Amino acid sequence: MAQAFARLKNVVARVRTQCALSPEVHNPIQWNRSRGMQTCYIETFGCQMNAHDSEKVIGTLLSEGYTQVAKPDEADLVLYNTCSIRDKAEQKVFHRLDEFKRHGKGKVFGVLGCVAQQEGERIFERAPHVSLVAGSASYAKLPEMLVQLETGNRRVTGLSLDNDQAFETPFTKRDNPHRAYITIIEGCDKACAYCVVPFTRGPERSRTAESVLNEARELARMGYVEIQLLGQNVNSYRDPSPLGWDFARLLRAMGEVDGIRRVRFTTSHPRDFVKEIIDAIDENPVLCNHVHLPVQSGSSSVLARMQRLYTRDEYMRRIDWMKQARRNISITTDIIVGFPGETEADFDQTLALLDEVEYDSLFGFKYSRRPNTAALELAEHISEDEKIRRLAIVLEKQRAIQIRRNSELVGTVEEAFVEGYNHATGQWIGRTSQNRTLNFVHPQHAGPREGASLAGTSCTVRVTRAGPNSLAGEALI
Ligand code: SAM
Ligand code: SF4
Repeated sequence: MAQAFARLKNVVARVRTQCALSPEVHNPIQWNRSRGMQTCYIETFGCQMNAHDSEKVIGTLLSEGYTQVAKPDEADLVLYNTCSIRDKAEQKVFHRLDEFKRHGKGKVFGVLGCVAQQEGERIFERAPHVSLVAGSASYAKLPEMLVQLETGNRRVTGLSLDNDQAFETPFTKRDNPHRAYITIIEGCDKACAYCVVPFTRGPERSRTAESVLNEARELARMGYVEIQLLGQNVNSYRDPSPLGWDFARLLRAMGEVDGIRRVRFTTSHPRDFVKEIIDAIDENPVLCNHVHLPVQSGSSSVLARMQRLYTRDEYMRRIDWMKQARRNISITTDIIVGFPGETEADFDQTLALLDEVEYDSLFGFKYSRRPNTAALELAEHISEDEKIRRLAIVLEKQRAIQIRRNSELVGTVEEAFVEGYNHATGQWIGRTSQNRTLNFVHPQHAGPREGASLAGTSCTVRVTRAGPNSLAGEALI
């Protein structure tokens, strides 16, 4: 504690000196942390990586004496943790900021995450009421940046990507009491022609296996039963310690952590997807039988132009490993339609791939032009109307596949981990190892008020109905 205060005092002294040298950025907003007057609010856009980053950011703020509030109107510090994977996601944050252009007086606004990294100091011009712009590679410096804000600096940035370490913090405020995220690798060393991630999240940095396992053991001690390993490409993981473990080795070790009953992971890149991952899943039921393996396109020529580093045949080999596994592995994917130069014949190959693989679910996206990316230079950009048409066809085909696949599960018995209770339908909300939502009624627990909550426990459930996106059933007792 004494050390923390000394550190803070040093930082304050340093920042005060900086502010004295640059009076134009000094603003006399005085907050009084000791009287508990600092409140913060965060809204998160985008992927699970962002959701977990926000948990770490909020944990850091709480450790620095802030109180989290549920509405931006109640907060002194309003943060947006942003996503720039597609143009639409990026625009959302500017709409939010516009809402406060006139009514945000007395508040401090910060833009974090991918839009912050991508747009940098331009955000200060576009939204002059923003005082903090920081990309995810700078979150370790958050306490220092907060001190700068608190001393009145109105132009605080954290935009360096020159960082060879993942962001680790003992302070994480987890949103879910039973399922916890652990980031094992940050950044991306691939260069897909459409994607901003290498520019916004920087190069790959893996955590040591020891630190990942210690976090998992600590979570188990705290009562968490499910862990989801996160990374842009989890399977590119390589332990930087002399152990040098790869992802399959780490996964096996995660499956042995006492008290952890389910381990998931996302996202896997097909190029680095090795059979040992399937072998590990086959050998330990704690490792969930679900793999999200984004294919993007069923056409090898589109994949080559996307710089995805695999052909359709190489991708299908990985699908075959999963289909031949002892456990019934659920497979999901991402599809981009309307990549520049995608012909009708290319698109037909994507549709044929959906029929061949029969995914359990997919995320479909229209190709979106992103700054700095190689695809901007490609010829034959596809019209918005055509992208909309192709996406609708993909989603309709996939819906039919899901109805068929889910209906095959009617009559089977599944283990569901309970996530909550839906008061509107009177059903418990469960999730199977294959990551399917399984809503069910329980004869002895009609609802959380009538009996103890089942959240965080597991139930054996007979599937009685199936829809395109979920299953319904009855608990067996
Ligand atoms: N690293 C993962 C991989 O390589 O499969 C994907 C991570 S990316 C954050 C999530 C998904 O966003 C991608 O799989 C892709 O389908 C989609 N995506 C990324 N950039 C896109 C773009 N410019 N337009 C449309 N979809 C995009
Ligand atoms: Fe983006 Fe490709 Fe990296 Fe995935 S592998 S994050 S799609 S650049």
